[in-house]
Amino acid sequence: MAQPDVVREKIRTILREGAHQLAVISDFDMTLTTYYQHDGQRSASSHQVFRSWPKIDPVFAATGDALYAKYYPIEVDPTISRHDKQHHMETWWDSIHAALVKSGITRSDLQDMIDHTPVTWREGADTIFSLCHSRGVPLLVISAGLADLIELIMAKAGFDRTNVTIVSNRMIFSDDAREVITGFASPSIHIFNKDTVAALPSSREAVGDRPNILVMGDSVGDIDMAHGFDRGVRLAVGFCNLHVEQSLSEFLRVFDIVVTDDQPFSPFITSLLEAL
Ligand SMILES: [Mg+2]
Repeated sequence: MAQPDVVREKIRTILREGAHQLAVISDFDMTLTTYYQHDGQRSASSHQVFRSWPKIDPVFAATGDALYAKYYPIEVDPTISRHDKQHHMETWWDSIHAALVKSGITRSDLQDMIDHTPVTWREGADTIFSLCHSRGVPLLVISAGLADLIELIMAKAGFDRTNVTIVSNRMIFSDDAREVITGFASPSIHIFNKDTVAALPSSREAVGDRPNILVMGDSVGDIDMAHGFDRGVRLAVGFCNLHVEQSLSEFLRVFDIVVTDDQPFSPFITSLLEAL
């Protein structure tokens, strides 16, 4: 926390104005899920769920690996400006989506993929979902991952999704019985265009006219998910998973609260929602 007094005041306002004035906006990969699994391995992002599926087209797997090896270091490099990263991320996402369309996967393959590669939820994620539901707080998930997979992953976990809206990259399938992937709905959502995504009608509708926003992400670009929702208090929580020493000062500049080392949502975030 860079400014504990500011944070305390924001929390006081959120609690005073209550659940019906609050919306939660969260990133998915490495925010609602963790960066590492319990065994210390990297946990899977929704894109990685695809790449690690044993039945995946090997050409797609190789393309995905090559793109990841090239662009992921750029995404997390604290020495590259955000402006320079944006162009690289666009190229990465367009290339991976084009490769996915060529891979010939079908809608029914998706369930098989998530059964094969489970994601690791951040401890307390289930509580976030149930508290948002019980307090009537909308939870808008904006993700550069894949909407179709995220929905299945949440359904598999059995989380209450009554109040949840997912705005993410959505696949288009053929109309025939095979339901083969034919493309992606536009616009493409990558890690550094979440401000544009926040302005989409589906995002605006999910938040409605609630003035107070709790925004959570693991990339400094995730703060843009709250872009345009500046009517009241914006409490921002950042999960700094990588290059902590180099990135912490920028995270502290962008987020009110920075969580390192894959720590759980509790006690702080869950107790805030609980107190509503
Ligand atoms: Mg993320």
